[in-house]
Amino acid sequence: MAKVRVRFAPSPTGPLHIGGVRTALYNYLFARQHGGDMILRIEDTDQTRFVPGAEDYIIEALTWLGITFDEGVHIGGAYGPYRQSDRKAMYKQYADQLLRDGWAYYAFDKPEALEAKRKEFEQQKKTFQYDCHTRGDMQNSLTLSAEEVQRRLDSGEHYVVRFKFPADLDITVHDLIRGDVTMNSNLLDDKVLFKSDGMPTYHLANIVDDHTMEVSHVIRGEEWLPSAPLHVMLYRAFGWEDTMPQFAHLPLLLKPEGNGKLSKRDGDRLGFPVFPLDWIDPHSGEKSSGYRERGYFPEAVVNMLALLGWNPGTEQELFTMDELIKAFDISRISKNGAKFNVDKAKWFNHQYMQQHSDEEVAAMFQPSLDEHGIVADHDYVVKVCGMMKERINFISEMWDTTSYFFVAPTEYDPAAIKKRWKAGMTGHMRKVIEILDTQPFEYEALHKALLDDYIAANQLNTGQIMNSLRLAVVGKTVGPDMLTLVMMLGKEETKRRVERAISVIGEPDSDNQ
Ligand code: GLU
Repeated sequence: MAKVRVRFAPSPTGPLHIGGVRTALYNYLFARQHGGDMILRIEDTDQTRFVPGAEDYIIEALTWLGITFDEGVHIGGAYGPYRQSDRKAMYKQYADQLLRDGWAYYAFDKPEALEAKRKEFEQQKKTFQYDCHTRGDMQNSLTLSAEEVQRRLDSGEHYVVRFKFPADLDITVHDLIRGDVTMNSNLLDDKVLFKSDGMPTYHLANIVDDHTMEVSHVIRGEEWLPSAPLHVMLYRAFGWEDTMPQFAHLPLLLKPEGNGKLSKRDGDRLGFPVFPLDWIDPHSGEKSSGYRERGYFPEAVVNMLALLGWNPGTEQELFTMDELIKAFDISRISKNGAKFNVDKAKWFNHQYMQQHSDEEVAAMFQPSLDEHGIVADHDYVVKVCGMMKERINFISEMWDTTSYFFVAPTEYDPAAIKKRWKAGMTGHMRKVIEILDTQPFEYEALHKALLDDYIAANQLNTGQIMNSLRLAVVGKTVGPDMLTLVMMLGKEETKRRVERAISVIGEPDSDNQ
């Protein structure tokens, strides 16, 4: 097999959708698995859709995710330039070759003439397509005399170059995921390849670049499958069929409900990002949120995306990038769209949270502590993170989950008071303070004094006492093992909190019995 060379070829028309990120990832995994090259090519032939900042965004997003390149617009390489607008000068000769060999023709039809045709067809309940059936009625080099064509070209009239599909030809695209896909040329329109402003369209530039960059495999989204017969024909027309890349068209990423392509609106509606990084549209100012800023780990995003449309054929769900590179297999990519699952995305982040060391989680948590004006002993913070990371999916949840480790409660959950703080509780809590004062401040000793001796001897309900103690110390009935928490907070802080609860909550109303 020729050296594996794949490319990710986004158009800089806005932030990169996570479907596009998945395409980049699959290309990357395939390249790395085969010791091949991964290329980043920017396809900006449609200048009307160009959005400033989009190219930098794409590079930053893929760098964040650990998807690296061997050649590309940002690092150069032997096959450059890697931005199509910088390659503009090289495409005309290829359009000319197709014109010369009869695979393409000049078309001079004005926008108004095309619009009139469309209307005419609409009235007959048909759809106009510039193709083998209609091209004979249009203003092009197939219908005009050679002199007239030359005259128009010389006078600088606007033109486009269109591909000339042979009539009634079955064109087969061999796809590594879908097998053979055949379409008849009678259904295909004569796509524009080149314009008189010197710009190629996507189709021409894409094929010329894939060929000249010696791309071996084209792995891209399913939305390009309808264009693939044209691409196959272009390889044939250029005489490059022998070295034509192999195609793999990836299934769509679907809405969580499963019907239709996952869109930004779905993300807004259901509260999850569909872009890797935050993005502010330079024209409208509209903001889109990204996985990075939402607190997702890049490893979690990579792992989640890898499994949206591909499966390893085993039960394994957690994969490092290296494991993905080993396990990835194009033949195990699904033909069907993959439903996006928000809970699963969070689950992956949770898993990667657990894989981060307590020190790392503490470092990520520190800005949040600073924001709340907390100055805490570093080892203490590390310990809190170690105890509590299993309860969160995102670092942003750490403060709400652990704030009582750092500040005493000022309010007590009324529902918990009603349920737990029964008559006599202030007396029991005074007893807890006494036990703290008289017993060694050690887990075992306190456990024995409180649970075995005091609670058992007085035939009290363990839950009632321990939950009231929790209410006093935390402010609500959440948190880790109660005595572990007491040991973390220390004797004096625990006593202070219990005393305060006694004075703030006091004896319950007579109806709370
Ligand atoms: N520029 C195209 C896109 O944005 C690339 C399609 C392809 O990979 O051929 O999706």
